[in-house]
Amino acid sequence: MAHRDDEAFVFMDEPDGPAERPQARGWQVLLVDDEPDVHAATRLALKGMEIEGRTIEFSHAYSAAQAMELLSRRDDFAVALIDVVMGGHDEGLQLVRRIREELGRQAIRIILRTGQPGYAPEIDTIRQYDLNDYKTKSELTQVRLFTSLTMAIRSYAQIRRLESGRRGLEQILSATLELGKPMGMPAFVGGIMAQLRALLNVGAERPVCAAIRELDSPRCILAQASHEDSWAGMPLRDVPDERVRIRLQQTLDERRHCFEDGVGLFFSGRGQQDLAVFVDTPGPLSDLEQRLLAIFCGNIAIAFENLRLYLDINDLAYQDVLVRLPNRNAMVAAIDAQASGMDVVALVDLDNFSEINSILDDSYGDAVLLAVARKLRQAFPAETLVARLGGDLFGLYGPGAQVTSQHIAQVFAEPLEMAGGEPLRLSATAGLIRLKGNGLPGVAVLKNAGAALKQAKRFQRGKSMMFETAQADAARDRIQMLNRLRASFSAEHLFLNYQPFVHLGDGRVMGAECLLRWKTPEGLFIPPDRFIPLAEQSGLMIPIGEWVFRTALNWRKSLAGLVDDDFRVAVNVSHVQFAEPDFVHRLLGILDEIGIPGKQVEIELTESVAIGNIDVLARRLDELRARGVKVAMDDFGTGYSSLSVIQRLNLDRLKIDRSFVSGPQGGDDHFGIARTVIALARHLQVATIAEGIETSAQRLALQASGCEEGQGYLFSRPLDEAAFRQWLLDRRAAGG
Ligand code: C2E
Ligand code: MG
Ligand code: MG
Repeated sequence: MAHRDDEAFVFMDEPDGPAERPQARGWQVLLVDDEPDVHAATRLALKGMEIEGRTIEFSHAYSAAQAMELLSRRDDFAVALIDVVMGGHDEGLQLVRRIREELGRQAIRIILRTGQPGYAPEIDTIRQYDLNDYKTKSELTQVRLFTSLTMAIRSYAQIRRLESGRRGLEQILSATLELGKPMGMPAFVGGIMAQLRALLNVGAERPVCAAIRELDSPRCILAQASHEDSWAGMPLRDVPDERVRIRLQQTLDERRHCFEDGVGLFFSGRGQQDLAVFVDTPGPLSDLEQRLLAIFCGNIAIAFENLRLYLDINDLAYQDVLVRLPNRNAMVAAIDAQASGMDVVALVDLDNFSEINSILDDSYGDAVLLAVARKLRQAFPAETLVARLGGDLFGLYGPGAQVTSQHIAQVFAEPLEMAGGEPLRLSATAGLIRLKGNGLPGVAVLKNAGAALKQAKRFQRGKSMMFETAQADAARDRIQMLNRLRASFSAEHLFLNYQPFVHLGDGRVMGAECLLRWKTPEGLFIPPDRFIPLAEQSGLMIPIGEWVFRTALNWRKSLAGLVDDDFRVAVNVSHVQFAEPDFVHRLLGILDEIGIPGKQVEIELTESVAIGNIDVLARRLDELRARGVKVAMDDFGTGYSSLSVIQRLNLDRLKIDRSFVSGPQGGDDHFGIARTVIALARHLQVATIAEGIETSAQRLALQASGCEEGQGYLFSRPLDEAAFRQWLLDRRAAGG
């Protein structure tokens, strides 16, 4: 915010406009008198004299009308010396009235002169028209004239300074309201103090101080002290200068301006945040000075009130109300500002916070958030922005050397100290991204960081994970693809292909595996290896899996008469489907609904299902097997199942992964792994099927090793329903 403060001050030092013209030229003095001799005598008396280092330049009017004409054209006159009696007996007084009321000129100082002492105006008139002086011409000796003029010019200069000061404040105010970012209270108060110093001609050797009284804190904190000592931030009672301390205290206590022994100005913040400013003036203020100061203070009071409103609104917009940290808006704005060296954004999400919140009451949840906010703020240097983005999500934005996974982990390594309660052990997951300096807007950066966090949660809850932009792009692509998959699924654009299992010994068709296919509306085939993991991560796999099962069973039913009774349809089942508690119940429900015997169905598991609770899995498989459904372990050899798992699960069949058959690990003449698997399966009394058979040599080798069945391009590629039917018919016709 510091740069804003600087900006706020710039305009105060460069006043412009008519008020400043005298600086370039001499003081402009208007002589109004119907006697030419008086003009000449006055000029002579003041010839060559300087006031405040500037000469005096005269303009001449010989009637009130002439004077009005001149004044309406120019507003740079500092002083008008006006003869009371010109044409009419009080023409001069009338002129004064017209200057003040008609022309609205308040700054110009007026000295009334009269030849006849009897025409002295009432004291009220002097007040009403703000006259500086009233003198008889005989009284006005050269010296007196000079003194009188000097005082008038000084007072004029002061009024002008005041006006420019007010302009400066108006600018502060409008800058405060217009600038997108807050100016901040210290800058505002500093601005007021600079203005007052200029206004009351207070030199740098004298203190000008401001104190703020906040509603919640009984102490008065000194907001700023533009004196040689810096008292900023000091409690008022500790301020060493007794006069300053007492005046400020008195001003705040009495809630009014105080003009004894220096000037104490009071600005009410409607009791929530009152401001007092003390100015150590060289002497007591004149009536006029006090009055002018009152106008000045009126402006400040409005600006102060507006500033408070602004800051309140700003707080709401940029600050989290609960933990008093910057909020999401503030973080977005900070990233948008792209300060150099600030290159890492991290999102930190508390693990299981919703449980904490639901088990214990909300106020405990709030206390946890507050404690985390405090701990995070303390853990990182001030340069790093620590924000609460909502809920239990915190954001960090700072230099790469500060915002690191390790640093975040450290924050949560120690239990949280909870006020008046047990320390709480809490873990968090963080996603970090490094900004590439490519000007990506804050909103997009947070989105990417969100993707990083999601990724981190999926893979390593309780840890942090660095996520580069390329990954973020990939994540975005995946999300887009997932949306398209979802749309395709609801539009029934997914379909199944079927690939036969063939008995390696006698060539009989033993069954077929159904394989899911996705053709996008653009006609693009997306391989299941790409979209199934997406569907699994998003939960979409559950309805898709059910649909596959139902479709496959219906297909199997439609083959009645065309294939043997024990022809089985093999369905791939994802580990996420197995994780659903009612998975078995639903499968059996579909089996009943379609009405085919369990033995016509086989499910293919991958070894990843074995990562879960083996006992639970075994129970579920037993329930299926009880209905005749067969269970095969797919892609065997690529995963992590141990022998004991195979035994424990009571598998019906092992599917030798295609990489050991036709892949680089297979090869035509050495089936090392495949052979081992087959031997093992025989030992465990589990059937085997080899997938990926592409050549007759492979088929022969597998058969020689004791493998019963095979699947692969050698027999057929995966086919759609009609093609499969045709394949069966062709094969039957060929006598197979
Ligand atoms: P998988 O279950 O191991 O399926 C066999 C894969 O091997 C299929 O790839 C098939 O097209 C391919 N294949 C068959 N014969 C040959 C061959 O001779 N040579 C070669 N190189 N490959 C052959 P696909 O259709 O791309 O399926 C890939 C994987 O996607 C499947 O591997 C399976 O894990 C998964 N998948 C397919 N459909 C489903 C489904 O409905 N549900 C679930 N959960 N997963 C499915
Ligand atoms: Mg399979
Ligand atoms: Mg496989």
